Amino acid sequence: MRLLDKNLNEFTDFCEQYIYKNAVNTTAVFNKVRLAPTPSGYLHLGNVLSFAVSATLANNTGASTLLRIDDLDKERITDRYIQDVFDTLNFLEIPWHEGPRSVAEFKAIYSQNHRLPLYSEALRQLRSGDALFACTCSRSQLAAVSGGLYTGACSLLQLPYDATDTSWRLHTENAGLQAIRTLNGQTIDKLPEEMHYFVIRKKDKIPAYQLASVIDDLHYGVDLVVRGLDLWPSTVAQHYLAKRLNAQRFSNITFYHHPLLLNTNGAKLSKSAGDTSLQQLRKSGKKTADIFRSIACMLKLDDNITDWLKLGKAVLNIYP
Ligand SMILES: [Zn+2]
Repeated sequence: MRLLDKNLNEFTDFCEQYIYKNAVNTTAVFNKVRLAPTPSGYLHLGNVLSFAVSATLANNTGASTLLRIDDLDKERITDRYIQDVFDTLNFLEIPWHEGPRSVAEFKAIYSQNHRLPLYSEALRQLRSGDALFACTCSRSQLAAVSGGLYTGACSLLQLPYDATDTSWRLHTENAGLQAIRTLNGQTIDKLPEEMHYFVIRKKDKIPAYQLASVIDDLHYGVDLVVRGLDLWPSTVAQHYLAKRLNAQRFSNITFYHHPLLLNTNGAKLSKSAGDTSLQQLRKSGKKTADIFRSIACMLKLDDNITDWLKLGKAVLNIYP
């Protein structure tokens, strides 16, 4: 055991001296990182981890931080949840340099509603380039036929685009390998099965997350995206979509995917998990440092992690 401990210590020292400084801290320079919560529920510890790593990378690389709040999903997003984004960031003392400071300012200037013409133009471009097809399949139909995976059932049917209850999907037959910039260089991956023919416009005629996210990151000039490992399939899909839009700039964005926080049952934290919501934790009297200590504990990190910068550095150190 002693030998193992010694090796582990040596390895940690090595990480601190070499990997962290060289892969993350000193060489990279970025312009803009974004925090991009979707306020369809109260934010939880998983969101905090993502914010902390984003803010740390901004701090380490000289980038500014944009707060982008995704609000296209009208049915699930409420003012209370938008306010919770500000309350959480202020409580955690996580800084941001660009973006809204209040619900009113968000609605007046930064809501995705203001960018609907940009999404529409991208949809028009994809549609006129025959990149899309209309689909009327329901979730239950897909679940019954192929376990939820989409195998292109409507791709040859030429269904009308503008009929009710119709989504628009992307032809992905020729997706090929996608090269993705990461902090350590480049990762090459193919489109995961769950992303075949992914939805670009939903049945409610609202642009889907993948399209809005690509357009927004290009619009704001984001060049470093931090997100959870669970969003890797989205990252690959977005690269393919950007190519279909001839948006070369997207391939210059660097991506960092952080590990996920899991609950005691080993499942990913969700917005319905009340016990890890920041709103609940604040109400129960937890202090800012307690929040960061809890996350460090869940990731089996050092227990003297008491602020976002210490947490971000520790995560980047162990998962460069
Ligand atoms: Zn279909």
